[in-house]
Amino acid sequence: MKRHMVHGYLQEILEELKDSDGGEVADYIPQLATADPAPFAVALATTDGAVYSAGLNEGDDELEFTIQSASKPFVYAAAIQERGLKKVRATVGMEPSGEAFNELSLDPGSNRPMNPMINAGAIAVNQLINGEDSTVEERTEVIRQFLSELAGRDLEIDYLVCDSELEVADRNLSIAHMLRSHGIIEDMAHDAVESYTQQCSIKVTVRDLAVMAATLASGGIQPLTGKRVVSPLVSRQVQAVMSSAGMYNLAGRWMSVVGIPAKSGVSGGIMGTLPGVMGLATFSPRLDSTGNSVRGVKTFHRLSEDMGLHLMGLRQRGDTAVRDIITREDGPNGRTTTIELQGIIDFAAAENAWRTILQEEKLADRVVFDLSEVASVNDIGRRMVVQGFQGLRTAGRNVILKDPRKLFPELS
Ligand code: GLN
Repeated sequence: MKRHMVHGYLQEILEELKDSDGGEVADYIPQLATADPAPFAVALATTDGAVYSAGLNEGDDELEFTIQSASKPFVYAAAIQERGLKKVRATVGMEPSGEAFNELSLDPGSNRPMNPMINAGAIAVNQLINGEDSTVEERTEVIRQFLSELAGRDLEIDYLVCDSELEVADRNLSIAHMLRSHGIIEDMAHDAVESYTQQCSIKVTVRDLAVMAATLASGGIQPLTGKRVVSPLVSRQVQAVMSSAGMYNLAGRWMSVVGIPAKSGVSGGIMGTLPGVMGLATFSPRLDSTGNSVRGVKTFHRLSEDMGLHLMGLRQRGDTAVRDIITREDGPNGRTTTIELQGIIDFAAAENAWRTILQEEKLADRVVFDLSEVASVNDIGRRMVVQGFQGLRTAGRNVILKDPRKLFPELS
């Protein structure tokens, strides 16, 4: 039931937004120009390991696409983890540039790239991985393995896309030459661009992207494997820079309206993090003029609004929504399970509550929901509680509500 609840909600968003099909697939990379524009998928991964996804068409959420610029925050994380923040800061700044992703620009004061989210910064950061003497192959392999750890599965490189981009990489080559002329990178420009382009060509699904984002959101622990991949400080740093520079020249408006640190890629992916709570991702290949997925941007708007995810929005979070679950023998009437909920019922609380409830093995046929200790409920929390109730009733249970403050008039 919990799957249907979140899955149904995600599916509904995809249906509602499917006709927002403006924009064009990226065509400056020949292989991406041939991409099917139709797929549309969304995924959420909670920091405690639940992954939900939906696709407009069956299987859209299992499709692999090249990660492109959505790799930048992760490789930035790898670089800080490997070299320390001080060294990385000496190479790349952390100020929003307000420019397009492929701008040939450096910070006029320091001659460093403005931030690691634009190509200039990302090419420089790529070069920090595996030491200055690393070959392109070794460096790429270290990055591929690191991204695989974040995803919790072995990721592969799409060499068709990579080679196709390398054939038209003049822009990134000029950026690399610029970086080299200022002593920011040491490798030959071509090697640096090849290494960076391979990084961009690692294949992920929307579910991978959400799980990778959730790893940052959890402070560095991969939610499925339980393994610590980066430190809490690295996660914080990456999300901070993502929040100010992740969406290029849309970054300010994005943070003001959507309020979720995020990073997009030209193949149509967007990933976002809600610190402490979850990773989010969307996939739809048509892009707007800033290089962000049209339907992806709209989906993030919707998710943020429905679920109250804006980082700067008022958030008070209780630990767990389920205060207690007690099953008693009621004599001749059989057994009764009493479920006490508490605190603020928002998405995270409701999701966690239903997961806990559904894991309860001895749920009786008579279920009493005691909401005396619930402080408040937001829209998505309400919707999930109502659907859960109805689900239990449909499944043939006698569900009784104890709601002294009438928080759920629709259920009484
Ligand atoms: N590989 C792409 C490039 O460098 C990535 C750009 C992006 O996704 N915004 O042009």
